[in-house]
Amino acid sequence: MEIIECLIIGSGPAGYTAAIYASRANLNPVLIQGLQPGGQLTTTNDVENYPGYPEGVTGPIMMEDFKKQAERFGSKIVFGTVTEVILSKTKGDVHKIIVDNKEEIYTKTVIISTGASAKYLGLESEKKFMGSGVSACAVCDGFFFKNQDVVVVGGGDSAAEEATYLAKLCKKVYLLVRKDEMRASQIMQKRVFDTNNLEVLFNHETIEVMGDKTVNSIKVKDTKNNQEKIISASGFFLAIGHTPNTQIFKNQLDMDSVGYLITKPDSSITNLPGVFASGDAQDSIYRQAITAAGSGCMAALDAERYLSELD
Ligand code: NDP
Repeated sequence: MEIIECLIIGSGPAGYTAAIYASRANLNPVLIQGLQPGGQLTTTNDVENYPGYPEGVTGPIMMEDFKKQAERFGSKIVFGTVTEVILSKTKGDVHKIIVDNKEEIYTKTVIISTGASAKYLGLESEKKFMGSGVSACAVCDGFFFKNQDVVVVGGGDSAAEEATYLAKLCKKVYLLVRKDEMRASQIMQKRVFDTNNLEVLFNHETIEVMGDKTVNSIKVKDTKNNQEKIISASGFFLAIGHTPNTQIFKNQLDMDSVGYLITKPDSSITNLPGVFASGDAQDSIYRQAITAAGSGCMAALDAERYLSELD
């Protein structure tokens, strides 16, 4: 039975950064890419806020760069999906990871960087304009809608935060809340209501995202009187929550009620020895490529330290 030093699950900024650091530390990491190689960034057109790309870069190219850099130092990148994990509770024991329901990998350390998935409404028209006006990240894509009108969907803290962020850039922001109240904290709601160019439409739901090549309007319905209307807007932002991709770790790793993995403060250390978590799978707050990359680095350093303690 071959036992590897370090297995990384996930191929977003956290996973590839962990691979760069782990391979440079001679841990010969194997990285399992998962269903969406490159992660959430591969659905983003332009990334302009990642340091080191002064002209900006597309999400897919940036992730290809991350991958090449990890491979340059000897990381083994494998196309496949981890379908089961049997994590050891004893320090020094190996963890068993099953890929695509068949291949078994035995590893001393596991770095989890499985990310999170933004929730979407599930409309066909929403899918059609993904990356051409539809986005689930105001910080990533808001800039492209400077001085334009946009619609944000959601009533939680994310929606409040994204809507107020966009209001600083855009001419007008409409916030569609499906109930007659917002779930967001009082302080966030106050910010929303204190913003002049932000209009909250309670009891409104989205019927269709409309446009030609890019979004130009949103058909919405007032659920109180069933009246439909069209809002002219070039951006449509979803802020209805994220789901961390951590289901396979349930009952083994500590997670919060939503499923975000819990790590010890200022580290990537989970409740099990030799298992580390990084990126959006354990971060419900920042959720940026740069913070994910930083935590991937932390996870590789924590794994290296754990292995040297075993030696
Ligand atoms: P939440 O789950 O808190 O809120 C999701 C919102 O989306 C709810 O208002 C919900 O409506 C709405 N929604 C869900 N599905 C649909 C749908 N199909 N159509 C229309 N609306 C829908 O998610 P958040 O991402 O806002 O927040 C997640 C966590 O992160 C929270 O704990 C939050 O406090 C925290 N957070 C904190 C921030 C901060 O403090 N700065 C910033 C961002 C997040 P309904 O209310 O009707 O169910």
